[in-house]
Amino acid sequence: MDNKELWQSVLGELELQISKPNFQTWFKNSSITEKGDDYVVVSLESSFAQEWVENKYDKLILKLIRNFEPEIKEIHYQVQPQNKPVVVITKKKTELPSEIDNLNISEFSIDQKTNLNSRYTFQNFIVGSNNELAYSATMAVIQELGKKYNPLFIYGGVGLGKTHLVQAAGNELRKIYKNKIGIRYVSTETFVNEVINGIKNKRMDDVKNKYRKVDVLIIDDIQFIAGKEKTQEEFFHTFNTLYENNKQIIISSDRSPYLLSTLEERLRSRFEGGMVADISYPDFETRMAILKLKIQTQHSSIFLSDDILSLIAEKFPYNIRELEGALTRLLGIVKIRKLNPTKENIGALLNEITNQRIMMIAPELVIKSVAEFYNIPEKDLISHSRKKELIKPRQIVMYLLREYLKYSFPTIARKLGDRDHTTILHAYNKINQDLIKNHLLTQEINLIKEKIYNRH
Ligand code: ADP
Ligand code: MG
Repeated sequence: MDNKELWQSVLGELELQISKPNFQTWFKNSSITEKGDDYVVVSLESSFAQEWVENKYDKLILKLIRNFEPEIKEIHYQVQPQNKPVVVITKKKTELPSEIDNLNISEFSIDQKTNLNSRYTFQNFIVGSNNELAYSATMAVIQELGKKYNPLFIYGGVGLGKTHLVQAAGNELRKIYKNKIGIRYVSTETFVNEVINGIKNKRMDDVKNKYRKVDVLIIDDIQFIAGKEKTQEEFFHTFNTLYENNKQIIISSDRSPYLLSTLEERLRSRFEGGMVADISYPDFETRMAILKLKIQTQHSSIFLSDDILSLIAEKFPYNIRELEGALTRLLGIVKIRKLNPTKENIGALLNEITNQRIMMIAPELVIKSVAEFYNIPEKDLISHSRKKELIKPRQIVMYLLREYLKYSFPTIARKLGDRDHTTILHAYNKINQDLIKNHLLTQEINLIKEKIYNRH
């Protein structure tokens, strides 16, 4: 086996074991450049990739290589000679930063020039296993603006810190460059409205100028651009203008470029051409750190033991906004009812808060959320139309009503336009089956569930 074949075999295995964005990001253009008796040298695209792969994947790669060449004991990593190493990675923060004492997060404002909200900073952002890839990538972008990772595409579910991270990047750049470079943050909803109004009032040149002259464009929740052709067109040109001039583009989305189904292919491939990093659910330690940070900055007069905090952290694994919201609500109730924040009291209050939620989910909300997710009219989901694009979304509605709201098959059949209840049974089994092998479907259903959960 020569070096090339060996590396190809290892990559083949690696691809199965790590997520797609990770694989593409770290192993793009990698190779084995040298092989000794008991070692190999692996060459990677950047110093950023080198550090990351060495820290995260060394053991795995060694194991895989040894499947083919058992005598290998060590791997050395280097940056491909033609790519000079420039990036220095900021060390991961596991402890709470000390500046926090001086911050007052509740006091915040939106800067006119950049449209950034000053409450989002790196000082009040906890880096955990769920977001460290996205965080490191953002740091690398800050250090090599417009050059290496362009665009930077951050994706993840609702309430997991996308807006916080991309705005923190903007605020950090503002701090470093002062007014020397133009930074602009915009939500996709605002951008869509500006384009629509620009067209209506014949002022498209203003919109073009506003966005094409910046050095850093941060666009939040790009999934809302799907299906809006004119806006996509405009964004595509803005994107190209910025990109060709080495201006940095930072994008957030609730799903990977891969899942932006109604996005023009040419835009999607632009997105995939840069750095794609995901933010996933925070693990328990991260949630605890976030709760502590919140208390320290916003409720500093209250002390809650780790025991009590872990009760809260355990209840809200899927959404940081909800975790924060629950803490604020709990402390509010404690104050109003003049309770002692004991473990028993907090436990009881938590049950009170969470029980209210599940009972209140209406089937209409499930239908609405699925319709929105797939960009189809609600009534089509309930109709008996056999259009191909309706089949899967409709089956997902059935699945969710059964699995999540626990309705019986006949009840679901009635609610969805008087169908036969065996149709529902079939759909439920089908989705359950598909979920086992289809990773993307799992992602889609999780996203829809989050949307439902965040709505009511
Ligand atoms: P998204 O844009 O993904 O829906 P946000 O960025 O709005 O989520 O985050 C939701 C809330 O959670 C915000 O108040 C944000 O400050 C907070 N948050 C999210 N991630 C973190 C984190 N890693 N550390 C501290 N706070 C966080
Ligand atoms: Mg957001």
